[in-house]
Amino acid sequence: MSIFDPKVLAQVPFHFWTTVTFVFGCVVGSFLNVCIYRMPRGESIVHPPSHCPHCNYSIPWYLNIPLFTWVFLRGRCANCRAPISVRYFLVEFLTGLLFAACWLKYGAHWPWVALVYCVFVAGLVAAAFIDFEHYIIPDEFTIGGIGAGIVCSFFIPELHSTFPDFLRFGKPEQGLYAGCFGAVIGAVVIYGIVRLGKLAFGRHEVQFEPNTKIVFTESTLKLPGQEIQYGEIFYRDTDAIVFQAQRLELIDRCYVNVAVRLRRDRLQIGEETLDPEQVACMEAVTDQIVLPREAMGLGDVKFMAAFGAFLGWPAVFFVLAVSSFIGALAGLTMIALKKKERYSQIPFGPYLVVAALVWIFIGRDWMVWWFR
Ligand SMILES: [Zn+2]
Repeated sequence: MSIFDPKVLAQVPFHFWTTVTFVFGCVVGSFLNVCIYRMPRGESIVHPPSHCPHCNYSIPWYLNIPLFTWVFLRGRCANCRAPISVRYFLVEFLTGLLFAACWLKYGAHWPWVALVYCVFVAGLVAAAFIDFEHYIIPDEFTIGGIGAGIVCSFFIPELHSTFPDFLRFGKPEQGLYAGCFGAVIGAVVIYGIVRLGKLAFGRHEVQFEPNTKIVFTESTLKLPGQEIQYGEIFYRDTDAIVFQAQRLELIDRCYVNVAVRLRRDRLQIGEETLDPEQVACMEAVTDQIVLPREAMGLGDVKFMAAFGAFLGWPAVFFVLAVSSFIGALAGLTMIALKKKERYSQIPFGPYLVVAALVWIFIGRDWMVWWFR
């Protein structure tokens, strides 16, 4: 086939836009890198402009070109030569690829749907990297995602109306209802699982004999009959150990009948707040303790509601099934590689993200085909 064949030429404008979406995706990925680094640290994402976190060198525009800069500087700061994480390159490249894939998959029939999926995918990439590193998905992505999904559903009902009748909620033109319904299903289903998980694993509240002594050392919590590493308890910044101590002894002081709340970064005893780093050892007498521990948290509930708003309610069930499957597979692999400790620290958010991508590129078609 000659490149001057009219059939080939007819493809040119479409693939011109494929290239544009790839480049645009890389630029968006560069911005996502800023979000991934700054948002969990509570810094502004617009100010100050890009700088080296090591030497504070302000990066000029010609050294802030997605993909090229990282390769050109061989992953080092132009000023102080400090290494720049390969994550910067990966996020840019991945976002570019995913944007182009959204366009290739949906651009020909539903260009607006392709555009909305690009926005959604950008949020997924940032949320996955932040959750993986910090065990938290910022509300900008979860609550913001629910709002954005509902607004997009209202203006672009094709997000939901292209499902067959029985997979659709409401009339084809009622994207708003379908978006809201998807968000509610997403939240309810995951919230139910979080609650059930607490019931099933029952590790949330631990009862002891009256006047039991528990000890907090620098690295572990010693309960009667078991010792738990803090790494296994504090997954997210909001995770807390809570109990009422009949008696609480620190090295230099003692409390009687006081409420205690310990987080990774903060120890509250009654009205006092201390830095856990400064407390080497603590002994308490109590008969009950509340430990945080569940695979999924409320962040995942909000995150899944955003999935439902963008992708529709059938996606909620698909994403749930596929993410559990990927999670189990990852668990088995890690156990086989004898890296179980590392695995038990992987949050659930990244699995949800991978499952949502599978839905967009494969699962959606597959589900429509299956029900026909
Ligand atoms: Zn530097």
